[in-house]
Amino acid sequence: MSQRPPTPDEDPPKKGVLFCPDCGHESPVTGDWIIRERPTRDVYECPSCSTTILRRRRFVSLSC
Ligand SMILES: [Zn+2]
Repeated sequence: MSQRPPTPDEDPPKKGVLFCPDCGHESPVTGDWIIRERPTRDVYECPSCSTTILRRRRFVSLSC
């Protein structure tokens, strides 16, 4: 019924952006994080201070 005018000032919520709690480095998940691949998970490290940002379980095919 009521059409909202476009709001160019309104940024869409950032999706998949990680922040380093230590130094405040900000980058998308696909950005410049150092990804250490483990057998069961990926570990994301900050490229500036090497703080571990995120541990993400790797996709493991359950074909056992
Ligand atoms: Zn950092």
